[in-house]
Amino acid sequence: MNILKFGGTSVGSVESIRALIGILKERKGAEKPVVVLSAMGGVTNSLLQMAENARNAQDYADDLKKIEQKHFDVIRALLPAIAQNPVLTRLKIYFNELEDILQSVYNLRELSLQTKDLILSYGERCSNVMVSHIARQHFANAEYVDGSELIKTDSNFGQAKVNTYLTETLIRDFYESNADKLLFVTGFISSNDEGRITTLGRGGSDYTAAIWGAALNADEIEIWTDVDGMLTADPRIVKKAFSLPELSYTEAMELSYFGAKVIYPPTMIPAFLKKIPIVIKNTFNVDFPGTYIKHGVQTSKLPIKGISSIDEISILNLSGSGMVGKAGFAGRLFSLLSREQVNVVLITQSSSEHSITFAVKPADALKALSLINREFELELQARKLEYPEVENGLSVLAIVGENMKRTPGISGRLFSALGRNGVNIRAIAQGSSEYNISVIIGRSDLSKAVNAVHDAFYADLKKTLNVFCLGTGNIGKTLFRQLQDQMPFLAQNNDLQVKVMGVSNTRKMYLNPEGIDLSNWEKSLQQKGQKADLTEFIGQMKDMNLANCVFVDNTASHNPIQHYLDVLQSSISVVTCNKIGNSAEYDQYVAFKQAARKHGVDFYYETNVGAGLPIIRTLKDLMMSGDRIARIEAILSGTISYIFNNFKGERLFHEVVKEAQDLGYTEPDPRDDLNGKDFMRKMLILARDAGYALEEKDVTIESMLPAACLAAKSVDEFYAELQNNAAYFENLKNEAAQSQKVLRYIGKLEDGKVAITLQMVDDAHPFFMLSGSDNIISFTTDRYKDRPLVVKGPGAGAEVTAAGVFADIINVGKR
Ligand code: ADP
Ligand code: ASP
Ligand code: MG
Repeated sequence: MNILKFGGTSVGSVESIRALIGILKERKGAEKPVVVLSAMGGVTNSLLQMAENARNAQDYADDLKKIEQKHFDVIRALLPAIAQNPVLTRLKIYFNELEDILQSVYNLRELSLQTKDLILSYGERCSNVMVSHIARQHFANAEYVDGSELIKTDSNFGQAKVNTYLTETLIRDFYESNADKLLFVTGFISSNDEGRITTLGRGGSDYTAAIWGAALNADEIEIWTDVDGMLTADPRIVKKAFSLPELSYTEAMELSYFGAKVIYPPTMIPAFLKKIPIVIKNTFNVDFPGTYIKHGVQTSKLPIKGISSIDEISILNLSGSGMVGKAGFAGRLFSLLSREQVNVVLITQSSSEHSITFAVKPADALKALSLINREFELELQARKLEYPEVENGLSVLAIVGENMKRTPGISGRLFSALGRNGVNIRAIAQGSSEYNISVIIGRSDLSKAVNAVHDAFYADLKKTLNVFCLGTGNIGKTLFRQLQDQMPFLAQNNDLQVKVMGVSNTRKMYLNPEGIDLSNWEKSLQQKGQKADLTEFIGQMKDMNLANCVFVDNTASHNPIQHYLDVLQSSISVVTCNKIGNSAEYDQYVAFKQAARKHGVDFYYETNVGAGLPIIRTLKDLMMSGDRIARIEAILSGTISYIFNNFKGERLFHEVVKEAQDLGYTEPDPRDDLNGKDFMRKMLILARDAGYALEEKDVTIESMLPAACLAAKSVDEFYAELQNNAAYFENLKNEAAQSQKVLRYIGKLEDGKVAITLQMVDDAHPFFMLSGSDNIISFTTDRYKDRPLVVKGPGAGAEVTAAGVFADIINVGKR
């Protein structure tokens, strides 16, 4: 025999009640179950609100009307007209009673816990009367049972303690004398010795089901709810949370105690004692197997089972010399709190015994504070204890699982995930069972923290990178296209999801917490975007406070650079193809790197040199593995390469430059390439990465242009000057051709000095053969002495640059 408990959402609407009836019909051949029902979804909260409103002399009548209507609507939809009257009448009586009670609270301005329980009990009573009548259309023996008469408790209203022996006897007797009935039992409510209504605590219908299960030695206790069982995390916080097939009672208890509201923690106790499995199933996805909570679960490969969280928590910290070495201090503190019914969620004590921190629900914080002040008055006055203070606005995050016990490195993984995402940990507690590690963090960080930890522990699941992009020019556009094309591949092969959460150009910006659909990002930016404002963009990005966040700068402008430090200090990684930042003052370059290191995030700029070619990465690997750079020689201007490779035969210099610009091989302003400035920046960045603290002025640039071209004031004037100086360029071309050489603009780093010179090289030179817009770089190092390490390939163009940015993005967080 099974107990089937249906929660608030499962009795909350016409559709869900139809589903419930369907589930019961499926059981027709099997042994008759007992059904336990909650109040309709939202009704308990609403009753509570009405009770508080009445006490505060505020209106409650509207809400009362609304819940009445909610029940009546279902009855009218699911019962034929002739069958409606008896139920409507019975419910009407309940609502009249309820109104009288609320009116009394209103008149007296007083709401005791006892009255509150009475008011709440109407939620379960109404839903059960309603559903049992509807069920009678399908099962002639359906019978309403007021469960409060059978579950006997003490008088601790709000969270009463069950008298197990008496309760089990009453339930068994009742069940035996109603053997032919299909029972619909009210969850959550119970009664004390005097027959007054008590309740089992919020979420207590689950517990009712377990109590009935234990009393009747049920085969299984089925908890029917609105999700696919117990998930790895709260699905409202973590979109990727997934259902756990099996849990031990302890694991389920820990997860639910720390916030997984899908099952009420005390539910596990009667089931555990009687070895009755609990299964959590989805009313709206009946065929899904759900989660089994039972003895002897199979060992799982998952390092942890789940992550739960308590949204609002307060902490109190007690410290002072009076505690050190004083046996029994903690005992005195916690027995005081327990005696006064203050539930302590978590405790940590420093090993010096100099301080104890404990967490309580915010509603209990002030009570705890005044209890301590009273109990330890003497110690406080003698300054042996510091006056404690309450700290609010905090949350608890807990990771839970029996495997934690056997697996080292779990806490390391937890803390590094939190650290990388800039989540400050206020206190840590590890249960001695090692089934649980909990941390207290700021409430505003909770969602980010749970997602980051989820990603860190379920690495074989998709990891999400949340990306904010500046710039929608050639590179930005191409990147979005590549991201969109690669999405399925990434998901399948890299278990990675890249979500663009924000985009901005100089005119407009658009941020969307749900992510931006890349198939029409341009339209969204146009239609939904607001006026661009970089400070605001970054502010909103920070406010979203997402895990694994990446700020991508696809511009060539100065403005974003000023924000890099702030972004890195907010624990957000930076990926940039913008060379301006790293090639400005050396101190700034160092500051970026230090900020990234300090905050445990990445600062990647592979595309600063040679577009997508692995140049920066190669240099970094050489340096990190202890090699020493003796010399770097490079052609790093794809533009100039292209120009020299095509400046042949009859072609004129300015024509070739124009062609390069039209093909997108130049900076937006081609002068930046031809005056050597862009090349200088790249050489400077390489030199810095090779360990030299150089500034722009330390780089000697031999111009490849006559002075008049360099002095041009606009792009048009520049082209005109190139044309005027055609003879100069023709000369170069002919001289090279006659000596069977080629023109090459080559940068060199040697002995800490950087120079860029125009050279004519013959076929003995490694840079002789170079086609199109290719870049080439050769590293001569201690290890690569006789034959340098050479990287060569296309070093310009939106396609390869965007691909390099893409690679940097997916490398974020790979360490
Ligand atoms: P019911 O009304 O059926 O008792 P509850 O609202 O009490 O349902 O509990 C189910 C809800 O618990 C889910 O809708 C989900 O939002 C929330 N929840 C929080 N943490 C978890 C978790 N780890 N697994 C499943 N659900 C969770
Ligand atoms: N209706 C009660 C509540 O909302 C009990 C339950 O749903 O389990 O807390
Ligand atoms: Mg519940």
